[in-house]
Amino acid sequence: MINIERLIKSFIELVSIDNPSYGERAMCDFIADRLRCLGITPFEDDTASKIGGAAGNLYAYVEGDLDLPPILLSAHMDTVELSCGKQAVVHDDGRITSDGKTTLGADDLSGVAAILEALTVIKSPGFNIKHRPVEVLFDPAEETYCEGIKHFDFSMIKSKEAYVFDLSESVGYAANEAPSIISFKAEFTGRAAHAGFAPEEGIHAIKAAAAAINQINCGHVGNTTVNIGTITGGSADNIVPERCTVTGEVRSFNSDDAKMRLCEIEAIFRSVAADFSCKLDFTSKTLCDAYYVDPEHPVAQRFYKACDDIGVKATICRTYGGSDNNHFVHHGINGLVVATGMRGCHSSREYINSDDLALTSELILSLILSEV
Ligand SMILES: [Zn+2]
Repeated sequence: MINIERLIKSFIELVSIDNPSYGERAMCDFIADRLRCLGITPFEDDTASKIGGAAGNLYAYVEGDLDLPPILLSAHMDTVELSCGKQAVVHDDGRITSDGKTTLGADDLSGVAAILEALTVIKSPGFNIKHRPVEVLFDPAEETYCEGIKHFDFSMIKSKEAYVFDLSESVGYAANEAPSIISFKAEFTGRAAHAGFAPEEGIHAIKAAAAAINQINCGHVGNTTVNIGTITGGSADNIVPERCTVTGEVRSFNSDDAKMRLCEIEAIFRSVAADFSCKLDFTSKTLCDAYYVDPEHPVAQRFYKACDDIGVKATICRTYGGSDNNHFVHHGINGLVVATGMRGCHSSREYINSDDLALTSELILSLILSEV
């Protein structure tokens, strides 16, 4: 039922639209137009003004003729840099890449294109298979830790189950679990002094930071991961550095473990700063909250069935990244992050096979037509 040529054409068109985070105006207009052409009325919220962006969350309710609760289908509108001047190149073997100068934007335009194609099928004249109602949600600024979706009014959503098409894996994979991600920043302030004339008058902020970092275990620590990501400080070779800033992150599938590890890290920074007589400012920010959706839940059962319908093996997995699904689950919507077959995301090597794009759209159609 999916029209592969139409789908690829639509994907190429989506890719050609510039869509940096906070600059999704043209993308949002394009998707809204496509929905209107299908007789679906989109609603854009006022998130753009709240995040200083160009587009809000684009939502639509698609009526169904089966007496079943709706399901929510979602994909984000923005693409990581380089997101402007993108051009999709379809190769003889079916692989679609960028021209090598930018990202392709399959993350997450493969999700957008696959959802639009499935909607096009059910709205085609002559399509006479009964289907359930569907809600669709396309959000801006997902790549900047889901800044757009955070401002969406979830009371609008009627669905209790969601499928977020934003996983870089083979079609058939879906993630039911994602970690909490907490970023932190430790700012050491010592005392500047001339490094040649009076070094003993200085308090060396970089040495203090280095001593603290040395005590922090990085990599896998229990069921969490810890990383020191950046260190900046000092002002000149002949000055004892007054300032040094260290940033990093903690991830864990258990939210309490992530917080506990963060406390340990803060304690190390504080104690070492005190040893060096440095002042310390320590701040942290929770970027995502961990979630777990039971693989026995109907949202997963329907996914298994839909995969079976299209002849692919279903695999439920964990993802180490955050997505809009973290927010859905915390608003009481049980969601899965579903793979579209996109690969090499967040780089100019990103690609997707046209067969996988078609399979993803078939999977979506199967979910919409599902009678469970
Ligand atoms: Zn994505």
